[in-house]
Amino acid sequence: MSQPVVSATPSSQAQWQALASQLNIEGRAYVNGAYQWAAGGDTFVSISPIDGRELAAVASCGQADADQAVTAARQVFERGTWSRLAPADRKAVLIRFAELIERHGDELALLETLDMGKPISHARKVDVPATARAIRWTAEAIDKVYDELAPTPHDQIGMISREPMGVVAAIVPWNFPMIMASWKIAPALATGNSVILKPSEKSPLTAIRLAALAQEAGIPAGVFNVLPGYGHTVGKALALHMDVDCLVFTGSTNVAKQLMIYAGQSNMKRVWLEAGGKSPNIVFADAPDLDKAAAEAAGAIAFNQGEVCTAGTRLLVEESIREDFTARVCKALKAWRPGHPLDPATTCGAIVDQAQLDRIIEYIGIGQAEGARLVEGGERVMQETGGLFIQPTVFGGVNNRMRIASEEIFGPVLSVIGFQSAEEAVAIANDSIYGLAAAVWTANINTAHKVAKALRAGSVWINHYDGGDMTAPFGGFKQSGNGRDKSVHAFDKYTELKATWLMLD
Ligand code: NAD
Repeated sequence: MSQPVVSATPSSQAQWQALASQLNIEGRAYVNGAYQWAAGGDTFVSISPIDGRELAAVASCGQADADQAVTAARQVFERGTWSRLAPADRKAVLIRFAELIERHGDELALLETLDMGKPISHARKVDVPATARAIRWTAEAIDKVYDELAPTPHDQIGMISREPMGVVAAIVPWNFPMIMASWKIAPALATGNSVILKPSEKSPLTAIRLAALAQEAGIPAGVFNVLPGYGHTVGKALALHMDVDCLVFTGSTNVAKQLMIYAGQSNMKRVWLEAGGKSPNIVFADAPDLDKAAAEAAGAIAFNQGEVCTAGTRLLVEESIREDFTARVCKALKAWRPGHPLDPATTCGAIVDQAQLDRIIEYIGIGQAEGARLVEGGERVMQETGGLFIQPTVFGGVNNRMRIASEEIFGPVLSVIGFQSAEEAVAIANDSIYGLAAAVWTANINTAHKVAKALRAGSVWINHYDGGDMTAPFGGFKQSGNGRDKSVHAFDKYTELKATWLMLD
């Protein structure tokens, strides 16, 4: 596949558009070291939410493709080409993979933006570096983790070792296609597994491109496979497969539950889930800097068009400052007006597809029907572009039991809820089926720690929103999931523990 060679990152919409017109987009699956169309010949069209343009025909994989990929993945695993390589050698290959991702950063960012509508500046400055960093950090960690010896009597040796699972299937969503994939494939590959990546049908293009870069980096044929297609076809085939050892998933809670059922109906494969959220962002009147808190509350709902699992969708504000703070958030949202995603100045891009836009608009209607007060946004905009854009939207007067406050919308729709005390704030925050993330803003160190401890969430941020890096585990309490991505804790998901006991004569 010939790809355009660019010397410098484009700095204008026209330059990005010129680069887009030169792209030769690959839509085939990648199995056992080669690109190929689906066995049944099925395809679907990747449509850009920016302007409705058809980007590429993409292989729509099914059972036969899943079988072929699993067989290839199993065979290479058994041969040991990758699985028995020294960790330091796998590390070297994965670092080359990260370097190639960086070298092809403009092209990957462009594919991501065209495919799912996020602003090019974010794709280039957030998604590409975060993907490369996840792979490099994990690679660098893998030859620094040790196994254990049990505290045995003198005449015995108890060795506790970690072994790769075998064949890992990774099913990922469309909101951060590359980053979500990297959080799975980096630890899965680093620990020696063979991997089959199933990207979302709404955003398959970067995953497909990553396969060629993985091959160029030196990952052997069969070790990393990419099967684009629908959840109910190839996703289900992988989840029910008798020879997939481990299924890792990021996506909605409903599908996550279904995957647990598939595992129970098949081979009891390990299932690790990162699912939905409805994260509370709690602002006390004594927050150190209310303008900063408002700016971050705006970003927490508008970044990535609100299509973020950790989006701060429930803004809990101490009653004494609720009106003033809501006004500050609405003002801060002016920095998040929708714009053309290829314009480097754009901060809020297009919604991924028509179905998702319809869902957001439906929820805005539900909020109004429930009696919440629409205080900002609420309108579809830029229709003349043929793209799918909506204004960041704020509802006041929200009660936590309303559907807009309890159900995941996955769009830029904020619910502002008042509270009188820390106890009430915690009770509202925890009154959710989800427990992915939460934030608390206060100058009082006791309040900060007491609230942080009481929050039932996998990530808690104090006086900022959405902190963390590869050193910290990421995942959910309750119906936001199980297991953790990122950090050395992620290795737990991709390895079996073995106890080997030796009796000395
Ligand atoms: P989704 O659950 O609809 O789809 C996720 C993936 O599952 C896709 O690849 C899809 O094709 C596949 N799938 C769907 N049905 C399937 C089935 N029956 N069998 C096998 N695979 C199936 O989610 P989405 O709309 O792509 O993404 C949005 C969701 O992802 C939101 O709920 C969001 O909160 C969640 N998310 C969570 C995290 C996290 O880390 N917790 C991160 C990002 C997104």
